[in-house]
Amino acid sequence: MGINKDWFLEKINSFLEKDERNRMKKVDNSYFFEPDVLVGFVRGDDPIFSKYKEIIGEFYLTPEEAFTWYCENNDIPLLTNSLFVVAYILPINVKTKDENLIYSKEMPSERWANTRLFGEEANVSIQKHLIEELKKIGINSMAPTNEKQLFKINRKVWASNWSHRHCCFAAGLGSFGLSDGFINARGKAMRCGSIIVNYELSSDAKKRPSDPYEYCTKCGDCIDRCPVKAISLERGHDKMLCSKHVMGTIPYIKENYGINIYGCGLCQVGVSCSNSIPEK
Ligand code: SF4
Ligand code: SF4
Repeated sequence: MGINKDWFLEKINSFLEKDERNRMKKVDNSYFFEPDVLVGFVRGDDPIFSKYKEIIGEFYLTPEEAFTWYCENNDIPLLTNSLFVVAYILPINVKTKDENLIYSKEMPSERWANTRLFGEEANVSIQKHLIEELKKIGINSMAPTNEKQLFKINRKVWASNWSHRHCCFAAGLGSFGLSDGFINARGKAMRCGSIIVNYELSSDAKKRPSDPYEYCTKCGDCIDRCPVKAISLERGHDKMLCSKHVMGTIPYIKENYGINIYGCGLCQVGVSCSNSIPEK
């Protein structure tokens, strides 16, 4: 059996429609993510992955490095000639976006915090589900971010050795924005994921813009939304300032929503790129 874009769209959308893990059980049982996902493919040996090593750091993994690690650790014959990265966008429920816009100018809403914790767990489950479904038809695949021995965060530069957003960019799904969010046709308010598949697919690299900030209009909406001035036209996104605020939301979320997570996302809602690629 062959696999293609429709195969992945169907698998992810039906997971979002039918699986309980996409339900906001602690709030109103609505979806975390709308079953209207975007999927893109890029070759594992696309030159952009070596470029990421130069830009992000030598620690950043190429698909070949990650998949080689996986094969060696799982006793799987190494075949790296047809590696592809499959990247996807999960659009956040519109009710969650609306709530995070009106709730507070400093703290995330309950739906947003639940999405950050349990929605992200659903996202991890989607990657596992895809890997299981692929295995059933004899295709090896893996998710670098789910491999605890492999996935690392470099805290000196606040960057990890595998990034779903960078995979989405490589696979032509959109571009980065001023606040480091990922602007795409479903909007910046989203979670995303990626897996590596040992199967020949059709690359979407041609859709990738040459400018990594192509779809950001520099409208400045996100600057005004940030409670700690972590975004500016001159310096872009100050990751340190942002993470200090985001980590500082933990006690508030625990006390008010009864869950142990951090969150913010105020710059992802009520801005020109929240729901789509903004017009220039
Ligand atoms: S709100 Fe405007 S400036 Fe900020 S990321 Fe979106 S398009 Fe860019
Ligand atoms: S996530 Fe919050 S703190 Fe970070 S840049 Fe966006 S609005 Fe500012």
